[in-house]
Amino acid sequence: MTPAVATNQTILVVGGGISGVTAALEAAECGKDVVLVEKSPSLGGRTVQLYRYFPKLCHPTCGFEINLRRIKSNPKLRVLTMAEVVAISGKRGDYTATVRISPRYVNESCTACGACADAVEALVENPHNYNLDRMKAAYLPHAMAYPQRYVLHPSIIGTPDAEKAKAACKYGAIDLGMQEETIQLKAGAVIWATGWQPYDASKIQPYGYDRFANVITSVEFERLADPQGPTGGRIVRPSDGREAKNIAFIQCAGSRDENHLRHCSRICCMASLKQTQFVREAYGDAARSTIYYIDIRAIDRFEDFYKKVQADPTVTFVKSKVAKIEEDRKSGDPVLHGVDTEGYKRYANPHDLVVLAIGMEPSVKGSMIPAAILEDSSGFLSPVSESSGVFGAGCATNALDVNRAVQSSTAAALRAIQVIHEVSGVSR
Ligand SMILES: Cc1cc2nc3c(=O)[nH]c(=O)nc-3n(C[C@H](O)[C@H](O)[C@H](O)COP(=O)(O)OP(=O)(O)OC[C@H]3O[C@@H](n4cnc5c(N)ncnc54)[C@H](O)[C@@H]3O)c2cc1C
Ligand code: SF4
Ligand code: SF4
Repeated sequence: MTPAVATNQTILVVGGGISGVTAALEAAECGKDVVLVEKSPSLGGRTVQLYRYFPKLCHPTCGFEINLRRIKSNPKLRVLTMAEVVAISGKRGDYTATVRISPRYVNESCTACGACADAVEALVENPHNYNLDRMKAAYLPHAMAYPQRYVLHPSIIGTPDAEKAKAACKYGAIDLGMQEETIQLKAGAVIWATGWQPYDASKIQPYGYDRFANVITSVEFERLADPQGPTGGRIVRPSDGREAKNIAFIQCAGSRDENHLRHCSRICCMASLKQTQFVREAYGDAARSTIYYIDIRAIDRFEDFYKKVQADPTVTFVKSKVAKIEEDRKSGDPVLHGVDTEGYKRYANPHDLVVLAIGMEPSVKGSMIPAAILEDSSGFLSPVSESSGVFGAGCATNALDVNRAVQSSTAAALRAIQVIHEVSGVSR
């Protein structure tokens, strides 16, 4: 085991999405020592998987690039990727975290030249594209990945493919002998920013996500619309590659439902409104988007965006909770069944593609965290704590848009800094 690093004046941030990155930077830029621990091979979390941000439809990579510059220029911030906190002991002002680091099989000498990817043959699922396509087993997680360092998928270790990758690397960057490592870190305060995950759509049986190829989720749709995504930005049907111009968006898919998630996921109305504009951008006046909704929740400054989409003639709103989806076997069209509650008309509407506005749940529930922290009935963490030095931040605390996630993370950084000040006051 590697000896302990950091001190009880260090702030440990768990999760390297926009929230964890924000909290880590805010604290480090106040002069605190920070260690940021991310379990995947690169930073950015789910925001780097989005095509554009509502309400301005700007590219997430812009803001991310600014954060990367701040990270690179700050010596107080240390980043560990492929690392997971597996245990925490101690108390406010004096924690020891056990962190498990998985092998990347590629060291700091990597120039991201890509020769190893050309050399290997094995293909693996591509989590950046929500497994909609496959990628080489030697890979860069995505174009903007930080660190800009390739990864060898563990499934090829010990196979001829791994040897081919090593032989192809002119920089001596591939180390097939790397092993899983466990380290211990001291910290005075911990910020838990482990974010959210999409609700498992296959659990909503009447919608047939696991049976019908042309029923997908909103997070998958972000990847379909992205020119860097699996279809090069072409919005097409998974079943036959045909252009999908007539698209249904089903709201509250898994949310506000006693059988699934009880809470409103708050973001999914805005996400669908935004995604209708991706369809318009792709197909102009030939686009047909229909939003099936119970209520539209567009809070605060988002109301203007909602009004703009309402005025778009390519977008129709149907006030109805869709009862079920059937598939037209001949055409592959998903057919939506339900009752339009404005006028009480039954419908059976065929569409090219259905996008489920899937609910957001915490990726790590409070009860799974190895430290004292409060959680609500959905498992979201409390951002505050009276006695402990462990604080929730970002979507780990609620379904939030990026703006609110960043605000919550700045607040968490301030709470953590207060703990560190207490500790330094005691030791002075
Ligand atoms: C379909 C859809 C579209 C959206 N579009 C927009 C939009 O246009 N505009 C907008 O403002 N918001 C949008 N959002 C919301 C946005 O995605 C969130 O606000 C944002 O992802 C929150 O970031 P986060 O850092 O809190 O969480 P995440 O992005 O989930 O990041 C959490 C990070 O923690 C890491 N992690 C998890 N567990 C561990 C662990 N145990 N140890 C170490 N690391 C861990 C993860 O790997 C990840 O990197 C959208 C959401 C959905 C569902
Ligand atoms: S590991 Fe070597 S071959 Fe692969 S991208 Fe890095 S430098 Fe290039
Ligand atoms: S934000 Fe909209 S789609 Fe999402 S759960 Fe709330 S009401 Fe339903």
